[in-house]
Amino acid sequence: MQERTLLIIKPDGVARGLVGEISSRFERVGLKIVAAKFTKADQTLAEKHYPSDRDVWLRGMGEKTLENYKKFGVDPEKLLGTTDTLKIGKIIQGWLVKYIISGPVLAFVLEGPHAVDLVRKICGHTLPSEAVPGTIRGDLAYDSSYLANTGKRAIKNLVHASGSLEEAKYEISLWFSPSEIFGYERVEEKAMR
Ligand code: ADP
Ligand code: MG
Repeated sequence: MQERTLLIIKPDGVARGLVGEISSRFERVGLKIVAAKFTKADQTLAEKHYPSDRDVWLRGMGEKTLENYKKFGVDPEKLLGTTDTLKIGKIIQGWLVKYIISGPVLAFVLEGPHAVDLVRKICGHTLPSEAVPGTIRGDLAYDSSYLANTGKRAIKNLVHASGSLEEAKYEISLWFSPSEIFGYERVEEKAMR
């Protein structure tokens, strides 16, 4: 069940000085850092990372956004000019590209059993306002679709984590070359298996 996944501490996480706080949560659960890079994405990388033609993902963002608006009594038509989940996803994708290139980020490849799901569990719900305490987004942020979208910006949720094994493979290849990824043994591995 060894998997590899991409984790990015987004510009707000770096700017808030939360690099140590965030990365320690993955280390202490037993996930292995097999690659790390402090970098600033350019427009091309950002658009590959957040592709404007991945309809299922775009609709998913649109759906989560509509649910959040309903909760706060926000009219999507008034705020974004549409109720179409795909169109909403596309608007957000534009904001996301701006957000990820707005400052330096720290990208990691994390390896371990069930790494994709484990990392997402530690990150918490996409919307910090919905994320439970104990998760990175629940403990360290409070942003919501309402706050972000009234400001016409992406949700500041500190981290990106690949959503599936397939997404992880694609994203790792965007951010790292194979020679930048290192295999090694962590001393507690034997005790944990
Ligand atoms: P996750 O990051 O949990 O995998 P998604 O892939 O669905 O979530 O969304 C990608 C990113 O888009 C989120 O991490 C968040 O920064 C941003 N986002 C999602 N919904 C909205 C929204 N309604 N408004 C602004 N940004 C959003
Ligand atoms: Mg995602």
